[in-house]
Amino acid sequence: MKIREIMKKYDIRPSKRLGQHFLMEESFLYKMLKAAQINEDDEVLEIGPGLGVLTLKLSDYSKKVVAVEKDSTLIKILEDLVKDRKNVCLINEDVLKLDLSRIKEDYFENNCFKIVANLPYYITSPILMKVIENREIISKAVVMVQKEVAERLVSPPGSKSYGILSVAVQLYSDVEIVDLVKRCAFFPPPKVDSAIVKLDIRKEAKVAMPDEKTFFKIVEAAFSERRKTLKNSLRNNLNLSNEEIEMILKISGIDGSRRAETLSLQEFASLCRVFMDLKE
Ligand code: SAM
Repeated sequence: MKIREIMKKYDIRPSKRLGQHFLMEESFLYKMLKAAQINEDDEVLEIGPGLGVLTLKLSDYSKKVVAVEKDSTLIKILEDLVKDRKNVCLINEDVLKLDLSRIKEDYFENNCFKIVANLPYYITSPILMKVIENREIISKAVVMVQKEVAERLVSPPGSKSYGILSVAVQLYSDVEIVDLVKRCAFFPPPKVDSAIVKLDIRKEAKVAMPDEKTFFKIVEAAFSERRKTLKNSLRNNLNLSNEEIEMILKISGIDGSRRAETLSLQEFASLCRVFMDLKE
């Protein structure tokens, strides 16, 4: 059944609050499956199945699909749609409240699962951070996101859109934009264009660092005042004296007049190492 028919049959009014924009163009579903290299041994977590278009395709080509949907009205429709599918499990929950290790234990057999999803855009960043935090049990994520977010995810140091999310995602994955998707591919169309992004998740960080928590403490401090120099934002947000920050920058070989968005992963890791040697 096509999206419009399903909406009519069940009298659905898409919820703006929950970011409900349903994908109408089938070709993008196949592109997502292809990018995720879905095969019959794969176990897949789908976030926000909506009216089930992607869910059904994932169910056709993979071993098992677990789909998490917050909207209980949609869950009832989805139950109807997948009632003959033995390899689909629906969970009526907020994905941000889910314990992904529990999902793996309770629903999956493989060591790792894949994520394929047309994300609710209002919570893209926390979902991606959750993916990265659960990198031990996730092998790949292919997600539809707002185009601007996709650009942030792949942007290199030195570009305006490079920020905390870019650092976190690039540190633990190889990320690429698979395709751009115009807003008219959805119903109702969102206010922005979209992009399909693929993250090949790594278990280990791309650069060596002594401690992940301190690394992100430094990244957050550096980016918290984007218009200030690195020296000022690190000093202000890490409670350092002038002497201390000058020493840290000097030993790391980093010019304090630079801005956070010009620092590579390697340079953040150097800062982290020196900071820990001097302060902790
Ligand atoms: N997968 C469908 C498609 O491609 O047509 C729908 C995608 S729509 C962009 C996002 C979906 O995420 C909606 O169904 C929405 O109800 C659901 N959603 C919103 N917030 C959520 C949350 N916190 N947890 C789980 N699902 C959520």
